[in-house]
Amino acid sequence: MKTFEEIGINAEVLKAITEMGFENPMPVQEEVIPYLLSADTDVVALAQTGTGKTAAFGLPVIQKTEIENVVPQTLILCPTRELCLQIAGDLQDFSKYIRGLHILPVYGGSSIESQIRSLKKGVHIIVATPGRLLDLMNRKTVDLSHVRYVIMDEADEMLNMGFTDSINSILAEVPETRNTLLFSATMPAEIARISKKYMKNPKEITIGHKNEGNKNVKHVYYMVHAKDKYAALKRIADYYPSIYGIVFCRTRRETQEIADMLIQDGYNADSLHGELSQAQRDAVMQKFRVQNIQLLVATDVAARGLDVDNLTHVINYGLPDDVETYTHRSGRTGRAGKSGISIAIMHVREKGRMRDIERMIQKKFEKGTVPSGEQICEKQLFNLADRLEKVKVDEEEIAQYLDPIYKKLEWLSTEDLIKRVVSLEFNRLLEYYKGTPELDIPDEGARRSDKEGRQDGGRNRRQAESGFNRIFINLGKTDGLFPANLIELINKNVKRRVEVGKIDILQNFSFFEVPENDTRFILQDMSEATFENRIVSVEVAQDKKDKGSSRGSFRNGGRGGDRRSFGDRRSNSGNRSDRGGYNSSRGNGRREYKDRDSQGTRTERRR
Ligand code: AMP
Repeated sequence: MKTFEEIGINAEVLKAITEMGFENPMPVQEEVIPYLLSADTDVVALAQTGTGKTAAFGLPVIQKTEIENVVPQTLILCPTRELCLQIAGDLQDFSKYIRGLHILPVYGGSSIESQIRSLKKGVHIIVATPGRLLDLMNRKTVDLSHVRYVIMDEADEMLNMGFTDSINSILAEVPETRNTLLFSATMPAEIARISKKYMKNPKEITIGHKNEGNKNVKHVYYMVHAKDKYAALKRIADYYPSIYGIVFCRTRRETQEIADMLIQDGYNADSLHGELSQAQRDAVMQKFRVQNIQLLVATDVAARGLDVDNLTHVINYGLPDDVETYTHRSGRTGRAGKSGISIAIMHVREKGRMRDIERMIQKKFEKGTVPSGEQICEKQLFNLADRLEKVKVDEEEIAQYLDPIYKKLEWLSTEDLIKRVVSLEFNRLLEYYKGTPELDIPDEGARRSDKEGRQDGGRNRRQAESGFNRIFINLGKTDGLFPANLIELINKNVKRRVEVGKIDILQNFSFFEVPENDTRFILQDMSEATFENRIVSVEVAQDKKDKGSSRGSFRNGGRGGDRRSFGDRRSNSGNRSDRGGYNSSRGNGRREYKDRDSQGTRTERRR
């Protein structure tokens, strides 16, 4: 292993990073730093978050900055405001001993005027989200003509978020003589295309295999019926009393609903999704960072800005549509040398998708068995014993209360006392879990259903889920369509909220599922829509024999299952008094088990 001096880091930067506790370069730094310091080579670095990427590009660009020349010399593009602030903060720390170096984060959602003022004063390094930077460029308040380094961090995320056009416009304004460095956790085709278009013979550096998941992450799946997914989630949370994790859901509606149910059932949970204001999102993220929240239920997009190193679990409440999203989700645990578990609570029909993920991450999912009531009791009681053992006793303060308590309990032996203390928890657990069924779909059944699924068309099945219609849309990967911008397109054009089910993005066209009752809104509102100057065409894609539908028609009055439209967020924060008595501090909380494994506590919300 080399030292930072050996790879060319100078004394001032070294002093700052030593104070930060950096002893030796991490692998991505050992690979990337010498390239940026010496060779004028473009670099594509495939590395997960948490691998030390920020210092890999941050240290060399700081060192290469000509302080006396107060113009933007380095441009760092990243997908979210949170990442933007984090990178800028890290760069400030790295450059603590470099006088006169100015770093400016520019991002949406905060005053553009103050950013313009800072730009006027002069900066060397700009860290920006693409939208805001483009805005500043359009106002002619930022000059990129002296930029020598362009860094695109989390490039795959930027593309997923639909920033391709903005990036194109930005890069067109930066001198061609620049060096470009692209960081991405995964290597989808679009990244390969971008690197071909904007980079000169880039050196490709891969930390681990391409698209490979983090080595410290164990992948476990639980196969349950769709109706049992929530019950399985609760049992998993109960089985890991010290769990600190993110539960990923596909839609905002589902995210809010699951978070609401967890809170109602006494869990220490909250939600994070795009329906919340920036201030609400900041507050939730902060509570989660300081571990005041154990389970954060989030959409992929909203969780992007969250950087937490010590998650014990990532829970996929159903598998995502694409492998890259899974890699990002699971890469949020097992960071900084710690181990983590990525759990998928899934249905038989998702097995094919799981196999695709296994191929990509080159790791097998282990089959998990949803913990039984007895296993949970055992685990929780052991946890209680552990807490009893480790609880800090404030001898001085408690002394005044103890005498009458000793007196009251003196007739009990030590064994009796222990039994009674443990029973306080045990009785409640026993009551709650007595007679609850196993939730796993047995393997044999899984195989049979899987086979039936395949005969039905398998992963690329033509049949929509019950209560849903499968909609054809004339846009595909070739048009730059991703699940995220398809949902954006629907949100933009369809006037009411409509749940979007399974999405299949194919090369030249795609399919998505919507509730039968909402199909007509999709057909009406999207007939006027355009996407990247293409006129959108949508129609119901179901087998006419099965559904009795014809082109452009829809079936009304279908059963909506227990799916409901997403309504206004009920504020969770500051409204904890009606929760099930679960303390907010991690691992030592007390839960009132309000209901059994049922989903019966949900309440209908209105638009
Ligand atoms: P990043 O991938 O840049 O978000 O970095 C992940 C974490 O590793 C951050 O908390 C960094 O401060 C830390 N880190 C980065 N490089 C080193 C290093 N060489 N030694 C120790 N910690 C580091």
